[in-house]
Amino acid sequence: MRVLDDYKCPECGTVAERFVAVGSPVECEVCGSAMDRLVSAPKFHLEPFSGDFPSATRNWERGQYAKVAKAEAKAES
Ligand SMILES: [Zn+2]
Repeated sequence: MRVLDDYKCPECGTVAERFVAVGSPVECEVCGSAMDRLVSAPKFHLEPFSGDFPSATRNWERGQYAKVAKAEAKAES
């Protein structure tokens, strides 16, 4: 199964939308580092505030930045 997801590079901060198989690694096109998958806020159903999902909280925080970066990336392409 392939899904469209947003990924962020922890090294250079690049955010990219990729259509890849679930669980497959995504490489940053800028610096070649392994990118982290972002969970976008609108599709997000696990509430990130209780601390039950620490990684969800982290992804949610990243998502706030990713929204801006994604908009900028789309404007460039
Ligand atoms: Zn990078």
